[in-house]
Amino acid sequence: MRPLGPIATTVLHRRYLKRDSQGAVVETPDELFHRVAANLAEAEAQFGGDVDATEAQFYRLMRSLDFLPNSPTLMNAGTDLQQLAACFVLPIEDSLESIFTAVKQTALIHQSGGGTGFSFSNLRPRGDVVMKSGGVASGPVSFMKVFDSTTEQIKQGGRRRGANMGVLDVSHPDIEEFITAKREEGVLRNFNLSVATDETFWEALESGTAYNLVNPRTGAVVRQEDPEVILGLIAAAAWESGDPGMLFLDRINEDNPVPTLGRIEATNPCGEVPELPYEACILGSVNLGQHAERGEVDWEKLRETVHLGIRLLDDALEMSSFPIPEIETMVRKTRRLGLGVMGFHDMLVDVGIPYDSDEAVEFASDLMEFVHDEAWVASKQLADERGPFPAWVESTHENPVRNATTTAIAPTGTISLIANCSSSIEPIYNVAYTKHVLEGLEIRNERFVDRAKERGFYSPELLQRIHDRTSIQDVPEIPDDVKQLFQTAHDVPAEQHLRIQAAFQEHVDNAVSKTVNVPQSASVEDIEDIFHSARRYGLKGMTVFRSGARAEQVLGDSPLK
Ligand code: UDP
Repeated sequence: MRPLGPIATTVLHRRYLKRDSQGAVVETPDELFHRVAANLAEAEAQFGGDVDATEAQFYRLMRSLDFLPNSPTLMNAGTDLQQLAACFVLPIEDSLESIFTAVKQTALIHQSGGGTGFSFSNLRPRGDVVMKSGGVASGPVSFMKVFDSTTEQIKQGGRRRGANMGVLDVSHPDIEEFITAKREEGVLRNFNLSVATDETFWEALESGTAYNLVNPRTGAVVRQEDPEVILGLIAAAAWESGDPGMLFLDRINEDNPVPTLGRIEATNPCGEVPELPYEACILGSVNLGQHAERGEVDWEKLRETVHLGIRLLDDALEMSSFPIPEIETMVRKTRRLGLGVMGFHDMLVDVGIPYDSDEAVEFASDLMEFVHDEAWVASKQLADERGPFPAWVESTHENPVRNATTTAIAPTGTISLIANCSSSIEPIYNVAYTKHVLEGLEIRNERFVDRAKERGFYSPELLQRIHDRTSIQDVPEIPDDVKQLFQTAHDVPAEQHLRIQAAFQEHVDNAVSKTVNVPQSASVEDIEDIFHSARRYGLKGMTVFRSGARAEQVLGDSPLK
């Protein structure tokens, strides 16, 4: 197998390789993949599977970089922590007891490399009565700051910075304070924010009528707001800082596989997994750039990777231990998995389709349909061997399957660095750049360099010139068809970002974590339009990021920072 590149080696050394009590690294990257494969394959013993053969298959799958599970699995499998999931949602009820229980649970989850999402919608608004003390309530935003500082402290000791998603319903009386909370620099820096909207809000918006803001403690209507004004406020805040994003709760709950367990109100930090309180999800991503040969998708290889990937994730679920008993119970009930893809742009280059084209949208849809169908075939086979997930009887699934969900598109912020591929389904950010923290190591898109050499326009001087640039569209000697294949996030219009996200969402059980990039010159109204389009496209949630906006984004945190 090919040696791992310098980026992978550096990332693994900094954060992933096992260390002794003195902090010294005690394994090689190869040993890491053996540790993880051996640990996950242990699950096979319980179901009469072949442990050794499966271990060898898992090792090859990961070491070849065809597929990687989420970071907590790579870090913790076969270690004392043994917590393998990246995505959690915790409940927050309207009591100090509940709030501070959740603070403690958050600390435990962050310590093990997981990220947490919460709906703060049940908390009584600022200024409401507090019976016990006879005082006044401080409201959701002020309690979010307690979670934020907990995360801040935990990250000093952990291997991975904890991340949070704070969700507030658009009908909460504190919604304006929530929307503008991150305008002040440095506030809630460990949070992504999302406003939860439902059809009541959107219908009011469309018909030009006011909607109700309700105190969740009493159920009383506190006042009415113009939905147009609230959407404008959300768009203005997103224009400035990238926060808040938006969730479409009705769309999310249409796909809730076990509605009898409750209505979903929140997602994990980057939005790809809508979950009930105490659910957790283990993610894994297929490296698409390694699934094309001579300009064609290698469908057979892709099928095998997806099948083995689902098996690996289901085994990981079996082997994972969770820091809180309630999570253990929920996870065993629904067995939620999130298999997704990374290196989508790499694959587009390999098959010769520009990111900004109708063909790319069609290709994305066909590709994800295949991955999704095969993921379900695999989950069905596992159900035959191991039994369906326990809540299956009350679920929306007609046939027995092993998992309530199988697919999600994660940002792959770190694992795409290990795999040296374009992240998730995003367009590349640039073609050649320097990671200064990597001792000034220059990183180049190898696909671009190969094409430049093949087509005879390669020169070290050209690479110098395009270095650290976020677009190569105005470089005269690069042929147009090559320019088209290497469009960056910056070149791709907002509408196309949305169309690609929608094409994937159509074939994903969970959700798609994606940033819709807009140029610096975009107006607040442009951002409002994007929110409207996102709803029309049937997205479950979304984030807009304006080039040059204050970037305090929690998503895509790089371990190289
Ligand atoms: N996550 C986190 N802290 C981080 C990055 C990620 O808690 O610094 C969690 C979060 O729930 C996120 C999920 O991990 O949605 C997946 O993120 P990503 O795909 O970037 O993780 P990777 O497996 O590449 O490290």
